[in-house]
Amino acid sequence: MRYSDEIIEEVRSRNDIVDVVGQYVHLQKKGANYFGLCPFHNEKSGSFSVSPHKQMFYCFGCGAGGNVISFLMKYDNLTFQEAIKSLAERAGVKLPDEDDSPAAKAFRDKKQILLDINKEAAKYYYYLLRQKTGEKGLEYFRKRQLTDETLQHFGLGYAAATSDGLVKHLRSLGYQDSLIIEAGLASHDEKFGTHDKFWSRVMFPIQDAGNKVIGFGGRVMGDAKPKYLNSPETPIFDKSRNLFGLNYAKNARAGYMIICEGYMDVIAMHQAGFTMAVASLGTAFTPGQALILKRYTDEVILSYDSDEAGTKAALRGIGILKDAGLKGKVLNLKPYKDPDEFIKNEGKEAFEERIKNAENPFFFEVRIMEAAHDMSDPDSKTEFYKKIARKLCEFEEALERENYLEAVASKYNIKADDLRRMVNTYANQGGIVRPANTPKSGISPKKGPEDGAKKNQRLLLTWLTDEPQLYSKVVKYVTPEDFSDDLYRNVASSLFEGLKNGSFSPASILDQFPDEEEHRQVAEMFNTNLVEIETKDQRKKAFHDIIYGVKQAGYERQKKEMKLDDPDFLSKTIQGKKDLERLAHMEISPDD
Ligand SMILES: [Zn+2]
Repeated sequence: MRYSDEIIEEVRSRNDIVDVVGQYVHLQKKGANYFGLCPFHNEKSGSFSVSPHKQMFYCFGCGAGGNVISFLMKYDNLTFQEAIKSLAERAGVKLPDEDDSPAAKAFRDKKQILLDINKEAAKYYYYLLRQKTGEKGLEYFRKRQLTDETLQHFGLGYAAATSDGLVKHLRSLGYQDSLIIEAGLASHDEKFGTHDKFWSRVMFPIQDAGNKVIGFGGRVMGDAKPKYLNSPETPIFDKSRNLFGLNYAKNARAGYMIICEGYMDVIAMHQAGFTMAVASLGTAFTPGQALILKRYTDEVILSYDSDEAGTKAALRGIGILKDAGLKGKVLNLKPYKDPDEFIKNEGKEAFEERIKNAENPFFFEVRIMEAAHDMSDPDSKTEFYKKIARKLCEFEEALERENYLEAVASKYNIKADDLRRMVNTYANQGGIVRPANTPKSGISPKKGPEDGAKKNQRLLLTWLTDEPQLYSKVVKYVTPEDFSDDLYRNVASSLFEGLKNGSFSPASILDQFPDEEEHRQVAEMFNTNLVEIETKDQRKKAFHDIIYGVKQAGYERQKKEMKLDDPDFLSKTIQGKKDLERLAHMEISPDD
């Protein structure tokens, strides 16, 4: 059901964000805003702010932000529609009746339908596990010592050996074949027509951080191949940006998360009380997944199988964690193969002890290198020492490098001075290899002029939402065209438009950006403050500098985009430059 903008606006305006958030978070008034402990990351000081004026929340710690609707979506794991319903009920707003006819269904948001289909499939598999058909599956889970509570907690299920049981069931609920296929649950071919994708498998529903089923992993009963089959990528299932178990792990607040190989590892660990465990989804751990983990923790412990493939995965994982700016450690499970086996044999306490002693990635890597060298052969041994020296060059910080140098020298009986000489030689050769510390695109925010320009734009947008009366001054110099990319430009033009018409509502602008990452970025645009403004002069200077900064970056960008063969190129560039120079020396004050 899609609600009209008017209804959404009414629901939002009748639910004051301070009241709603105050039901979940203890808030204290500080100046114009309220502050409390952020419910979305683990913290001891209150960086979570709620602005009654903007009707927005924003966390200066983890960057979570939004309006009253997105707060509820995030906190209670609701869809947009569900959040609207809940808020409407709370404020006594009557919503138009829901139309559940097939025609109405066809008009509903595609993603929502795919989510609905996956949810119905999860219910169907869950039901089958408890029927005669599902006996084999239940037996498998029992053998793995899963309790009823665990089966229920993870919504585990069973896909029968029939070829179209699920398809028939979903059709009976009114879903079209094409959508069932698009949801990743069926395939179509000449011989079988539209038929189920999963046969004779125990089923692991994969949920996103908001507890919504977005896909499945299925483990085959018996020896058929492939052993594990996952849903394909669909509009709601991006394997590189989701993790199995994250919906629970994000609430564990252990101060770290554990990433392991498979569904059963995660489930066994959660059952044993280690609810901070997650797994990547049939693919290697990805940079996108590291970024998601970073929202919830600073430290990630890698828990991969103790075989060659697991070791390789751990080595790769270490690099990805470093790139994402996360602290990484490696869990040693020997002599057992995986966490599940370890816990069953040694128990929780022993596992906890292993977590405490998880290995620092540098020593882990050195130990793996050592295994590849024959220490009784002088050449091989020298080669090993050289590799250690090169590895040490990866530490940019001299003190940190020295500490590791001493530690590794003593551990492997190398003379520290010799090793130091080797390190210096490599460093001087320019052989400083620091691949791990070079942020790859998409991992760290871009630094440099681009970032500075955006910061100015955010400062200006925040200033305008804090003091909307400044709009008439700002608009004399700045237009939405001066903002640097589509997202910023769209937000700026919505805000300018609203301010021009006197309908100021940053909270409603947020609703135009349902994508989680965009929503967060927009919230940030309205919550970027200058810290050091105390005097009137500082305020005046900051106001001028920000406007000038936005204008200058806008000019540079527009110049770049202009075609050289544009007949007006020269005149436009010269005019732009003149305007900019004039602006540089102009007095612009927010207060006269
Ligand atoms: Zn936070």
